[in-house]
Amino acid sequence: MTNKLFIVTISAALLLGACKSNQSDLMSNEVSAKQDTIMKDSTEAFEYVSEQFADLRILRYEVPGFEQLSLQQKELLYYLSEAALCGRDIMWDQNYKYNLTIRKTIDAIVESYKGDVNNEDYKKFMVYAKRVWFSRGIHHHYGSEKFFPECTQEVFAQFIANADASKLPLNTGESVKDFSARLLPIIYDPKIAPKKVSLDASKDLITNSAVNFYEGVNQKEAIAFYEKMINKKDTTPVMIGLNSKLVKENGVLVEKVWKVGGMYTQAIEKIVYWLEKAITVAENPEQKLALEKLVKYYKSGSLKDFDDYNIAWVKDTQSAIDVTNGFIEVYEDPLGKKATFESVVSVRDFEASKRIATIGANAQWFEDNSTLLPQHKKKNVKGISAKVINAVMESGDAAPSTPIGINLPNNEWIRETHGSKSVNLGNIVEAYEKAAGGSVVNEFYYNDAIKKNVLDYAGLADKLHTDMHEVIGHASGQIEPGVGQPHETLKNYASALEEGRADLVALYYLMDQKLVDLGVMPSLDYGKASYDEYITKGLMVQLSRLKLGDNIEEAHMRNRQMIAKWAFEKGQKENVIEKKVENGKTYFVINDYLKLRVLFGELLKELQRIKSQGDYKAGKALIENYGVKVDLALHKEVLERYNKLAMAPYQGFIQPKLTPVMKDGKIVDVTIEYPKSFTQQMLEYSKNYSYLPVIN
Ligand code: ZN
Repeated sequence: MTNKLFIVTISAALLLGACKSNQSDLMSNEVSAKQDTIMKDSTEAFEYVSEQFADLRILRYEVPGFEQLSLQQKELLYYLSEAALCGRDIMWDQNYKYNLTIRKTIDAIVESYKGDVNNEDYKKFMVYAKRVWFSRGIHHHYGSEKFFPECTQEVFAQFIANADASKLPLNTGESVKDFSARLLPIIYDPKIAPKKVSLDASKDLITNSAVNFYEGVNQKEAIAFYEKMINKKDTTPVMIGLNSKLVKENGVLVEKVWKVGGMYTQAIEKIVYWLEKAITVAENPEQKLALEKLVKYYKSGSLKDFDDYNIAWVKDTQSAIDVTNGFIEVYEDPLGKKATFESVVSVRDFEASKRIATIGANAQWFEDNSTLLPQHKKKNVKGISAKVINAVMESGDAAPSTPIGINLPNNEWIRETHGSKSVNLGNIVEAYEKAAGGSVVNEFYYNDAIKKNVLDYAGLADKLHTDMHEVIGHASGQIEPGVGQPHETLKNYASALEEGRADLVALYYLMDQKLVDLGVMPSLDYGKASYDEYITKGLMVQLSRLKLGDNIEEAHMRNRQMIAKWAFEKGQKENVIEKKVENGKTYFVINDYLKLRVLFGELLKELQRIKSQGDYKAGKALIENYGVKVDLALHKEVLERYNKLAMAPYQGFIQPKLTPVMKDGKIVDVTIEYPKSFTQQMLEYSKNYSYLPVIN
């Protein structure tokens, strides 16, 4: 606590020092008052990173605007979240048939442990426990190989022996010792189930994969079984085999369908229970219909019903709240037929939608006031619409590791005939950025004042940048009569130039009072932070993604370096951006934000001219001279500095917790909390949502 305040005080002092010196006393007072609120904000700042172990990092995410939702919407989110969590154990069982037995054993050990938590063996055991929770089983969630505890088998056996036996998943009459002897080889023997999904085509893919989608069946039999079901003339085919386990019973192949009354019925009945509650508070008839069809599908197990549901879901475009819940992705099946359970509950990002609408409504003002040559300005510009949603709850295959966007349904004919939904999970993307941000900002930005500005302001500034890039950036400007489309005239440089043009529209307006007047940006400090970020990322940080010696290929990376490097060079005479080297570390420091804005405006005018006139030669020169080549010494330095930050390669999230507030048996409110402990959440979920029996 003391430590934190100390750091904040220092940066606040530096901030004041960095302010312009010609301000009146009144202004200084205003500034100090503002510092106080900043100090308060940063003490209470949301912590995006929870912990790191093995190759994993646990993050947290926020749901902005939750409190402003109506009671009906909150209730709907609560029911859908419960439905999501009730399916959680299905994914564990799908990954490997002994996963639930192992997890219940781990849970029992952790809950019974009374010893020293800093005991080396216990710490090793806990790393294994958390890895299993993260991967929803004993195989790596991404690499699919089995991983092992670092404590010995004897130590693990002792932990089992010390655990509360009533919590262990023992067989009837089985002793703890026998149970241990049965279980430990599954955990420790590298020859048992070494791979979750085998992709070694020289061996039988099914019998060499640990996934629990087939039993007593080999690859040839399974392929033959499904071959027969394919009707090539069917123009609206279902996704055959999607929601069942294929087993051989008395020599005959049968599908155990995942549905009410079928396999996983204990969990699916609960999912249906909560979905039926959700139906009662649906936002509109389209959403209600989609949820009803989802329930119908869970009850029938018919893949035709699943298609009907997906069609209804695609048509529900007006709802603020959305959900995917079902057997959706087929990556874990070596034959690519059977889907894992997942659920993502989301709500539209109202703040983002409002921002986007405000910017879009003023698109003509932005066009008229830009630096473009008069003949290149659009007389009638229309903003492009964009949709951002925020995750509220994720489960199954979508948690703790998560997608950052949703693009469904997967069935191709439905996509072609009825369309699909494609959205970004805004709060997840933001959490990733913020989580990476702290240490990166600390390492690559020049002083505490700049670091603090970037940490405090760049979040919203980034969003505004993205909004303007999409809504008014790509939409702006016009091509001169008779000049062809950019992909014809500017060829391979067209996309880097176009991304640069859209970025420059955003950058130019981020330092414009208009955004403050429109109420979408509190002050120009946000614009300044975004300039610091753009220059430092464009000239240094983004190089961390490249191997030493490589040139830049990717269009967005090219345009960022091109803009930053061009502005650095053009502003050199007036020292607009200064290159400083201190203690062997390079920094790019902006000395004059307003002059930098003028430079951005000039480059915007030039990029628009290149596009409007199809000037290939000039476009090529800009990209090749500024966007492609990398300063080798600087690149080496960036890689060394970045690698020292030691960020784990895989990340996942703790989920928010929704709790209904009850009065007279009715929900009168739903609260949201953001738990901090991954271990706690995993134990809580196991306790509250374990509906599937263990297989022994
Ligand atoms: Zn773009």
